[in-house]
Amino acid sequence: MQTVTILGATGSIGQSTLDVIARHPDLYRVFAITGHRQVERLVQQAKACHARFLVVASDADYEQAISLAREYELSSEVLSGKRALEDVASAPEVDSVMAAIVGAAGLEPTLAAVKAGKRVLLANKESLVMSGALFLDAARQSKAEILPIDSEHNAIFQCLPADFNYGELSASGISKILLTGSGGPFRERELSTFAEITPEQACAHPNWDMGRKISVDSATMMNKGLEFIEACWLFGLQPDDIQVVLHPQSTIHSMVQYVDGSVIAQMGNPDMRTPIAYGLGYPNRIDAGVAPLDFATLSDLSFSTPDTHRFPNLYLAIEACRSGQAATTRLNAANEIAVQAFLDNRISFNQIAQINEEILNRFEPTAVSSIQQVLELDKQARLAAIAMVEES
Ligand code: NAD
Ligand code: MG
Repeated sequence: MQTVTILGATGSIGQSTLDVIARHPDLYRVFAITGHRQVERLVQQAKACHARFLVVASDADYEQAISLAREYELSSEVLSGKRALEDVASAPEVDSVMAAIVGAAGLEPTLAAVKAGKRVLLANKESLVMSGALFLDAARQSKAEILPIDSEHNAIFQCLPADFNYGELSASGISKILLTGSGGPFRERELSTFAEITPEQACAHPNWDMGRKISVDSATMMNKGLEFIEACWLFGLQPDDIQVVLHPQSTIHSMVQYVDGSVIAQMGNPDMRTPIAYGLGYPNRIDAGVAPLDFATLSDLSFSTPDTHRFPNLYLAIEACRSGQAATTRLNAANEIAVQAFLDNRISFNQIAQINEEILNRFEPTAVSSIQQVLELDKQARLAAIAMVEES
C-alpha cells in the first residue's frame, strides 16, 4: 500500500491522478489533496478519495473550505496556506507525491517533497526549469526518487537503457534524444493572422486536454522549450544532445536514438493517465484506464522540423538553456506573466514572445546558488514583465 499526496489535485493532472488511483484501491491510499480556488471541487474530491487532509493553498479560502466540508460531512481535516502545502508534501506517512501545481507556485511544495526524500512524480516542469541544479542536489542528498510525468520525459525514461547513468549518453550508445511535440493548434495557421489569436483558440489543443497555462504554452511551443530545459536536467543532457521533432499526431511521445541506428520510441494514446500510472506503479505496470493503441485504425505518423518564425518561444527557451540557470528562471517567470496577460485579453498572442525576449535580453547571466536567489530572480523578472504588460 502506497500513501500518496497530490499537489494540484483539482487540475487536469490532479484529476487524472485521482482517476488512476481510484482504479487501484488495494494499492494506493490518499494522504492529502491540495488545490487553489476551486474549493467545492476539492471538497468533492476529498470525499470521494477519503483523503486525510484537504489543503487550500490560500488562507482566504479556508472559511469556505470549512463550511463546504461540513456540508459534505467530510471526514478529512482542512488546512490552508503555503506551509500546509509543504507539510502534506513532506509528512512522514507519505511515500509518493504527485507534483501537479502549475507554474512557479509549485516550486516550494515540490522541493519540500524532494527534501523529505519522497518519490516525486514530477509534472510541474516549471520547478525544474527554475531551479535545476539545486533541485537535483536536494534530491541526491535526500535520496528522493524523481519520476518524470511529463509525457515526453516519461517516454525518454522508458526508452533509456535500464542501467543508464546520468549524463552518460555515449557510454550508453545513445546519439540523440528526440523530443517530440505536436506543434499545437497553430502549426499550420497563416502566420499573418497570429495577432488575432484568441485565448479560446489557443486553449483548444488538437490532441491533449490540459490546464490553460500549459495549453497556451503548447500553442506558442514554449512548452516544448520548457521541456527541452527539463530534459537537460532530468537526464544530464547538453542542448546539442536533443533534437525537437514535430509529430502532429502525438502517438509517439519521444524517442531515444542509438549509435547503431536503432531508435526506441514510446507510443500510446495521448492520455496523461499512462505516464501517471507509470509513475505510480514503477517499477510495476498498472492499468491506467487508457484505451489501447489500435494499429488497425492508426492514421499516418508524420514528422517535421519546427519553424523558427512560427515558434520564437521554443528558440528563446533553447537560448536560455544554453545561457544558464538565471536565464531559464527569468524566462519562466516572464512567460507566466505574459501567458496570464494573454489569457486576460491584455496582450496579443505575439506579445508573449516579445515580452519573453525582452526579459531575456534585459538581464545579464548571474550564477545561482540558492533557492532564495531563484525566488528573487523570479520576482525581478515578473515585475519587469508586469511593467511591460502595463505599458502595452
Ligand atoms: P491546471 O491548471 O489544470 O491545474 C493546476 C493545479 O495547480 C490546480 O489544482 C490548481 O488549483 C493548482 N494551483 C494553481 N495555482 C496555484 C497556486 N498559486 N498555489 C497552489 N496551487 C495552485 O494545470 P495542469 O494542466 O494540471 O498542469 C499542472 C502541471 O503539470 C503544470 O506544471 C504542467 O506544465 C504540467 N503538465 C501538465 C500536463 C497536462 O496534460 N495537463 C502534461 C504535462 C505536464
Ligand atoms: Mg509534455
